[in-house]
Amino acid sequence: MSASGGCQCGAVRFRVDGELGEASICHCRMCQKAMGGLFGPFVSAETSELVWTRGARKRFQSSNKVQRGFCADCGTPLTFEFEGAKHIGLAIGALDRPADARFVEQLASGARLADFAALAALPEHAEDEPRAAAHLASIQSYQHPDHDTDAWPPNA
Ligand SMILES: [Zn+2]
Ligand SMILES: [Zn+2]
Repeated sequence: MSASGGCQCGAVRFRVDGELGEASICHCRMCQKAMGGLFGPFVSAETSELVWTRGARKRFQSSNKVQRGFCADCGTPLTFEFEGAKHIGLAIGALDRPADARFVEQLASGARLADFAALAALPEHAEDEPRAAAHLASIQSYQHPDHDTDAWPPNA
């Protein structure tokens, strides 16, 4: 069992030669800011089983204990790295199969920004509705695909 992933532009890719650990979402203000999102979604992996297969992440020291890894080319958040830990947090959206993450808990719940029940109740628009489908048909993606590639971008 292994997992792989990388950033949006494909400059940085990684693989985990082992099982992914437990996943959580963290509502703390630092995770919100680091992800540019509502919360930080991370799954743990053994640091010794993590291999960087293309490029290298850049890291920002967000506190005296933690570095946060990201792609310096496209900005995709990639890691949460606690000083001295045997585990590393991988940003779940960066995985090739993000649905593999097994969520077990929410952290820093007091800082939660949105009422999730209310979000789930918002009106929905699926990507295959005619209005969205026409728009999506006009979009050409430059995002790296959700699998390893021999070369990227393809025409480089
Ligand atoms: Zn990138
Ligand atoms: Zn956090």
